[in-house]
Amino acid sequence: MASSDVARHMISDENPRCLTIAGHVGFESLPDQLVNRSIQQGFCFNILCVGETGIGKSTLIDTLFNTNFDSSVCSHFHPNVRLKAQTYELQESNVRLKLTIVNTVGFGDQINKEDSYRPIVDYIDAQFEAYLQEEMKIKRSLFNYRDSRIHVCLYFISPTGHSLKTLDLLTMKKLDSRVNIIPVIAKADTITKAELQKFKLRLMNELVTNGIQIYLFPTDDETVAQLNASMNGHLPFAVVGSTEEVRLGNKMVKARQYPWGIVQVENENHCDFVKLREMLICTNMEDLREQTHIRHYENYRRCKLEETGFKDANLEKKPVKSSRQNLNILKEFIKKKD
Ligand code: GDP
Repeated sequence: MASSDVARHMISDENPRCLTIAGHVGFESLPDQLVNRSIQQGFCFNILCVGETGIGKSTLIDTLFNTNFDSSVCSHFHPNVRLKAQTYELQESNVRLKLTIVNTVGFGDQINKEDSYRPIVDYIDAQFEAYLQEEMKIKRSLFNYRDSRIHVCLYFISPTGHSLKTLDLLTMKKLDSRVNIIPVIAKADTITKAELQKFKLRLMNELVTNGIQIYLFPTDDETVAQLNASMNGHLPFAVVGSTEEVRLGNKMVKARQYPWGIVQVENENHCDFVKLREMLICTNMEDLREQTHIRHYENYRRCKLEETGFKDANLEKKPVKSSRQNLNILKEFIKKKD
């Protein structure tokens, strides 16, 4: 029987009737079942840090996860950019997190920086390819697959107070269709408050003008919509990293100590570190994982399958809706701040 015949013989039920149930059935426990399974499985999260050597990538990651990842200091003399991935198991209460930190070694250190983005793009694509190959196997094991796809790229911008460098623009442009980019202004203790506000605005303008799609915190889930919307207005987050504990009154705080005073990492008057941690880890980690799968991986998969000759009958080639929406949201923020 042809598929159109099958369709004709099926009873269409697009609007199922709503019925009330007379008593306890038990499917209300489904969310609990999901939670239990997730806890048993554990989670994985893969962060890519892009930024010049010495801009504060390792320090920020240590500060974010409140640990010391034993990263060695990188030299400035690498002939080209390399990516270094390291995986760690972390546990908080009974939740296990397999965290992979991928660092760009030698980024910005070469005289000719034209191709600096390429190893990063190749790395991201290679992780998508590995997942695609697993998916295409006859005997797949996606359930316990070690997912190495990058869920978020923290893009470190120098606190120059000027504008984005060509290297940053080019790299972000090449990455934005492959990964969720969260731009951060590094070493924000080296820029004044007034300069910072202007710098943030200028950066956002430049991102919009150059059509660079950064990740915006989602506002479609009403439980976090308000928080996420207000945090979008603070992008790019200006961060300070330090794992050093300094005495302040009768408590110890993470801070950077200078002859003229201390910069407290977790003080929202001093920098946006707490905002970044809250958004990245507490509120939107799952969305970042999901967007990686449904948006960036899907995009990669579609292109790859099309290259090999696959075609859907009614495939529409329109850009991913959320990226265009993101650009419009960004424009709105900039208008409001101007
Ligand atoms: P990476 O090469 O990008 O990983 O940079 P590191 O994290 O190794 O930091 C390089 C240097 O910058 C170290 O001396 C850090 O103490 C310093 N550093 C890191 N974060 C900050 C920051 O937020 N502000 C300032 N002023 N210095 C920082």
